[in-house]
Amino acid sequence: MSFDELLVEARRLGLERQDALAWLAHVSGHDRTWLFAHGDEAAPANAAAGLQRLAAGEPLAHLTGWQPFHDLVLAVTPDVLIPRPDTEALVEWALELAPGGARVADLGTGSGAIALALKAARPDLAVTATDLSPTALAVARANGERLGLAVDWRLGSWLAPLAGEAFDLIVSNPPYIAADDPHLAALTHEPLGALTPGGDGLADLAHLAATSPTHLHPGGWLLLEHGWDQAEAVQRLLAQAGFANVRSQTDRAGRPRCTGGRWQG
Ligand code: GLN
Repeated sequence: MSFDELLVEARRLGLERQDALAWLAHVSGHDRTWLFAHGDEAAPANAAAGLQRLAAGEPLAHLTGWQPFHDLVLAVTPDVLIPRPDTEALVEWALELAPGGARVADLGTGSGAIALALKAARPDLAVTATDLSPTALAVARANGERLGLAVDWRLGSWLAPLAGEAFDLIVSNPPYIAADDPHLAALTHEPLGALTPGGDGLADLAHLAATSPTHLHPGGWLLLEHGWDQAEAVQRLLAQAGFANVRSQTDRAGRPRCTGGRWQG
């Protein structure tokens, strides 16, 4: 089939036009502009099967193996959460707050998205990143090597691999979707442990609020991503843990998406 015929097929399958174009451009080995000028050419044999996979709900990033995030394009596999544009709000906030040469930790780094976006934007930062999953950490490490970005990768849960170390800034996008959130049922292609801690979704956010102070220099910040309806709860967790200047930031859609506080020491 030609690319044009496949675009018609994609519409019939109810696919987002952007996803169909991105997939077809990917298999063509060219960009979208090329696709528009060469729509009558025969597409590679796997092109139609990819449209079927998209229609069955598989994420585009799993078909192509790539996901853009902030200023980077990251390799992703089913072992990691696919980085979301929402998380760019956390990156921007961290970049604003990080003093020159700051030591930064990204906890539960997954694909390495936050750690690598920070290091790419600010080479002066000394970035350390942890993840409990060896397969996720391998994805993150490979992304760092391919992009030529030096991050100190550590295997282990949250702050466990960082005993005795202190930072100027700690950031994390932990699992936070509540177990009964209907949205969760549709997310079958990513590691469940990266999406939800179970219950009301606050367990890991609470753990990070409680354990980060011993790893922050006086004046250091903890910034946490959370669900659109969890800002108040996370503000309370940070205040209870003794953080000052507790406040939230919105994502691109204007929803409160991350909350942070300053550790006074
Ligand atoms: N923001 C993601 C979603 O709602 C979830 C990521 C997370 O739990 N950290 O799909």
